[in-house]
Amino acid sequence: MSDMAIPTRSPAPISADDTIQPFEVAALDLRGRVVRLGPAVDEILGRHDYPAPVAKLLGEALVLTALLGSSLKLTGRFILQTQTDGPVRMLVVDFATPDRLRACATFDRARVDAAIAAGKASPGSLMGRGHLAMTIDQGPDMSRYQGLVALEGGTLEDAAHEYFHRSEQIPTRVRLAVAEEFRQGGNGVRHRWRAGGILLQFLPKSPERMRQADLDPGDAPEGTAPHTVPEDDAWVEGRSLISTVEDIELIDPAVSTERLLYRLFHERGVRVFRSAPVHAECSCSRHGVASMLRSFSQDDRDHMVENGKISVTCEFCSANYVFDPGEIESGEPPAA
Ligand SMILES: [Zn+2]
Repeated sequence: MSDMAIPTRSPAPISADDTIQPFEVAALDLRGRVVRLGPAVDEILGRHDYPAPVAKLLGEALVLTALLGSSLKLTGRFILQTQTDGPVRMLVVDFATPDRLRACATFDRARVDAAIAAGKASPGSLMGRGHLAMTIDQGPDMSRYQGLVALEGGTLEDAAHEYFHRSEQIPTRVRLAVAEEFRQGGNGVRHRWRAGGILLQFLPKSPERMRQADLDPGDAPEGTAPHTVPEDDAWVEGRSLISTVEDIELIDPAVSTERLLYRLFHERGVRVFRSAPVHAECSCSRHGVASMLRSFSQDDRDHMVENGKISVTCEFCSANYVFDPGEIESGEPPAA
């Protein structure tokens, strides 16, 4: 195939919300994605009504999940889950191909309130120590893949860097940003959540160029100078460019994704690919909840009956499903 001239045009001024924009900087062997979340993140976080620092943390997890999950080539789910000892014990974000996001957090309200009062409600302090698991589930015929990384009181960005460094050995940088936007409207001040993020990876054709600087010195005798390897110049350049990205550039609708990419990489030439939409949608259903209840023991189901009904609320979207116990026991498909 002969080279084709790629037409150049000015970057689009307006950013499209709820999109994932893949890009490539061929001259530096860099690839990446930019995620912008408007109504999707506002719907998910707004429905839960968590304390603001918890919502912000879950928003970061949503952005990270969209950045990573959108790389799935086949039909399936990408699930990001934290389990930690801090006030926020668990975050679960679920990306179902091609475009559905849902998320929820489990936290101790008294400990969260105490952390806020003490000024210690940063994402890292809210999570504390534990681990972050990333699961790829592509259906019953495919093996599940799970990657694990320790959370040591740092941010989700730190954990993502650690994961790609240790497990995938791909030089990677991630930036995540979440903010509440306040607007004066007809009925007073209205607030909306917005979020955005960028992922950058160094993927040269020759793997030896992927060397990374901070390798563990291993069991070398104490006092031995660590074996430092210089990073590839292309990656050093990419890494330093992405470190200049400000939160506002990832959130502000007035700064389009294309303008941000142009600001970062125009000297090297950046190419954008077709963007993909994402939206907030839960995968729960009356049928699915009924099947789950049927998988429980009779005894467990009996304990769930209150006022003659079994009521189940979805943790992700707060949808409430109410059944007659007989409806579950008969095994008949429940009425819609
Ligand atoms: Zn649901």
